Amino acid sequence: MITESTLTAPQTSSASQAAPNEIAVRNPRTGKTIYTFREPTDQEIQQSFERARAAFGTIRAMTVRERLEEIGKIKRYFLANKEKIVDRIVEETGKARTDALVSEVFAILDIIHYYQKNAEKVLGDQVVSTPLLQFPKKSKIYYEPIGTVLIISPWNFPLNLALVPIVTAFTAGNSVVFKPSEWTPLCGLIEEIVEESGFMKEAITVVYGGKDVGRKLIDQRPAKILFTGSTRAGRQIMEQAAKYLIPVELELGGKDPMVVFDDVDVERAAKAAAWGGMMNCGQTCTSVERIIVQEGVYPEFVAALKRRIEKLSHAGACEGKADEGNLDVGCITADFQVKIVEEQIKDAKAKGAEVFSAGTHTEGSHAIPPTMITNVDKSMKVLQDETFGPVVTVEKFKTEDEAVAMANDSPYGLSGSVWSQDLVRAERVARRIETGSLSINNVLATQGNPGLPFGGTKDSGFGRYKGPLGLQGFSNPKSVLIDHTKKPEVYWYPYSKEKYHLFSRLLDAIYGGSPFWVLKAALIGLKMESLAKKKRK
Ligand code: NAD
Repeated sequence: MITESTLTAPQTSSASQAAPNEIAVRNPRTGKTIYTFREPTDQEIQQSFERARAAFGTIRAMTVRERLEEIGKIKRYFLANKEKIVDRIVEETGKARTDALVSEVFAILDIIHYYQKNAEKVLGDQVVSTPLLQFPKKSKIYYEPIGTVLIISPWNFPLNLALVPIVTAFTAGNSVVFKPSEWTPLCGLIEEIVEESGFMKEAITVVYGGKDVGRKLIDQRPAKILFTGSTRAGRQIMEQAAKYLIPVELELGGKDPMVVFDDVDVERAAKAAAWGGMMNCGQTCTSVERIIVQEGVYPEFVAALKRRIEKLSHAGACEGKADEGNLDVGCITADFQVKIVEEQIKDAKAKGAEVFSAGTHTEGSHAIPPTMITNVDKSMKVLQDETFGPVVTVEKFKTEDEAVAMANDSPYGLSGSVWSQDLVRAERVARRIETGSLSINNVLATQGNPGLPFGGTKDSGFGRYKGPLGLQGFSNPKSVLIDHTKKPEVYWYPYSKEKYHLFSRLLDAIYGGSPFWVLKAALIGLKMESLAKKKRK
């Protein structure tokens, strides 16, 4: 494995097929092959599932506390080895070192910490109140493990989007088969973490390969699929899963709006927009992509954002310099993503947009400089499609209604933000924007709280991971009603005309709105009881 300490001329890279079943993994900054790996045979895929299924019995029998002790080993390993882990991530993704530390290592530690504090309560039996008519029975929900689950992840946060769902599924009592992206498989890293930390080995099985391997894994009929990736692939996965009735959770693309009202601190909002749009080189599903600014502060905001973007250090301008955590914007990871971003910028320019970039870009280079595009319209790809690169558009609005309409004018509905000092207005607008999460006077902030569920609406997918819903999403919530009484129920057989009549009166008593409904229902109940007794005789 090659480790990179300096930034060299960025070239193209590709997770191309080097030979049948061989995939080359390249460093996006240098274009050099780091290693190649072989995709598994059908038999190996089947064996992976068999191993994971065999492990499920053991994990299921463990208490939540015992599972938390296991994930605690990963936490300790991360704390002791964070630099080594960051090196691996940076090498395969080309991202800035600080992005790797904060959005991958930090995020994983944070979720483990959250589960250590909350998982026992969240996964513990939940007592539910029982209606008066079922007195004195008791009602409960057991959160039970579901089996061997399949997690498929993309290349933009290769360790975060692997381990966060893996530890979630494991804490809820499941074994996991995990398929990383063929672009950033981090081959051997999860195995090394498991081996060296002493974490329960059989709980995680990593299967490396491209989308065909993903399809074959789905054919193994996992108990659930958590897929993070593109909307296009999400559709295909759901279609295949439907054949076997496998439940799916889809965490898909986004085109997140940032709505800025004219009462904000413009400098702070511009600073947030620069970070929210360029962090991880814009390759974040919840990146700020469409900035919508109220007309009164539009010129001021555009000028401030331009100044912010100009100041950013980026991979293209830092050639040959070591990234010791001081590089702001790293590289685009995948070849095809470079082309998508270039094409959107070209299309916008051709249609009359104004493009401001913090540097020059050589076609094909993975180091795309931070870019702001103004004077945009709906005919442009940059406003329609997910960009997933260091590019933001800025548009103008007049009224609150117009801002909401513009924010919602997208097939996606992942996240976004609303900026106003008037918090009543900000919350009103936040409720009207169709997304799975939303930050007020901040960007990408909801993800910083592991207690908040994460997921999208519309073409951004469905299902929630993280927070209590995340753990419960990897569980079968089994409803249980416990009857301590010894008598047969009045509504059991035999049916009769009188019983029917009493039931009809009972409905009127309960739902008819009478303030004395409890008394009326009790009297009818007694009549039913005596009728049932007579019948029993
Ligand atoms: P992708 O959909 O091309 O691939 C994601 C993963 O799915 C890879 O491991 C790939 O091999 C696999 N795959 C693709 N097609 C498959 C199929 N038919 N069957 C089984 N597996 C298949 O996505 P990508 O290019 O790796 O990632 C970028 C996308 O991910 C962006 O759209 C981004 O917004 C999205 N994303 C979403 C979230 C979120 O939480 N909502 C987070 C990160 C990234």
